[in-house]
Amino acid sequence: TPIEKMTTETAQQEIAHLQTQLINYGVAYYENDEPLVEDHIYDALYARLVALESVFPQFMTPDSPTQNVGGADTKSDLAKVTHPAPMLSLGDVFSLAELEEWDVRTTKSLGFQSAYNLELKIDGLAVALTYEQGKLVQASTRGNGVVGEDVTRNVKTIKSVPQTLTEPLTIEVRGEIYMPKKSFAKLNLQREADGLEPFANPRNAAAGSLRQLDVGITKSRELSAFVYYTAEPEVLGATTQSGALARFASLGLPTNHQNRVIEKMADIADYISEYTAKRDELAYGIDGVVVKVNQLDLQIDLGNTVKIPRWAIAYKFPPEEALTVVRDIEWTV
Ligand code: NAD
Repeated sequence: TPIEKMTTETAQQEIAHLQTQLINYGVAYYENDEPLVEDHIYDALYARLVALESVFPQFMTPDSPTQNVGGADTKSDLAKVTHPAPMLSLGDVFSLAELEEWDVRTTKSLGFQSAYNLELKIDGLAVALTYEQGKLVQASTRGNGVVGEDVTRNVKTIKSVPQTLTEPLTIEVRGEIYMPKKSFAKLNLQREADGLEPFANPRNAAAGSLRQLDVGITKSRELSAFVYYTAEPEVLGATTQSGALARFASLGLPTNHQNRVIEKMADIADYISEYTAKRDELAYGIDGVVVKVNQLDLQIDLGNTVKIPRWAIAYKFPPEEALTVVRDIEWTV
């Protein structure tokens, strides 16, 4: 039955069922780092819930997964950190047609066509890094977006995250912690040899390795990072997303260099096909492309919903086979 033709009662039942199911999948994924289903299955159920809730908004409860970032809560033994500003998720789309629709909406809100910065969507977990006078003093996970977990000691074991910036700035920056594919494959071979359950994917391996009370475990896991955001761009003197990335790099922070500024959404097609082809060669997992309004003052004008920024959207690649083999090729960084 098309959603519009469903009875209120059937819709209510399906919505309640999907909410519970997705909350349970979320707990397994975000809190235990052990997903129960593959991402594309989660994504399809999530899209169905979004569609149902948009036709029957009376059943969209505040605890619905569509209204909350990450898992229900952070339950691990790690200390909790309240973020100075919430750490959000991203809206996602699965086709060029949906990207076009997002572009039309954005252009309408702004009143003109904005330039976009395209970035790879790194398959890891979000962290916030706080530097005081250029020194790394705190690192935290996204958690439920409002409260995350303190992983300062863990992050300090990651070689690519500088303990000291090249300038004595006081700033919170955010980015992605990931496990390079090679390290992931090696780790899973070792786990299998040790009779342990292998990690489902590099994202879960990264999260499971970072969120450890025993910092020695994190240290043995070869994690890496890319920084892509700050809520305080004025500290950097940056006015664009692409400019902020360049400033992060000049501070010694690890950044991904595959970003590209485009003047109109149609130009994204080349970037997507290029990285769909290059995806296997990359040293790290990506699950899509993130489109961001490049001018930072326009990002502020567009603002955020409770869960996602209106100035960015993630285009997700179609599902890929699991990566389990160490491949003897040159990785591109
Ligand atoms: P998301 O991971 O799809 O997108 C938001 C995140 O993208 C950000 O928080 C950030 O960490 C990351 N990101 C990577 N590169 C980025 C870049 N260049 N710029 C900005 N952000 C970047 O959203 P989510 O809400 O964390 O989780 C939803 C995802 O998790 C879906 O893909 C879903 O399939 C998966 N999930 C799976 C299960 C499961 O059971 N398999 C359960 C829950 C969630």
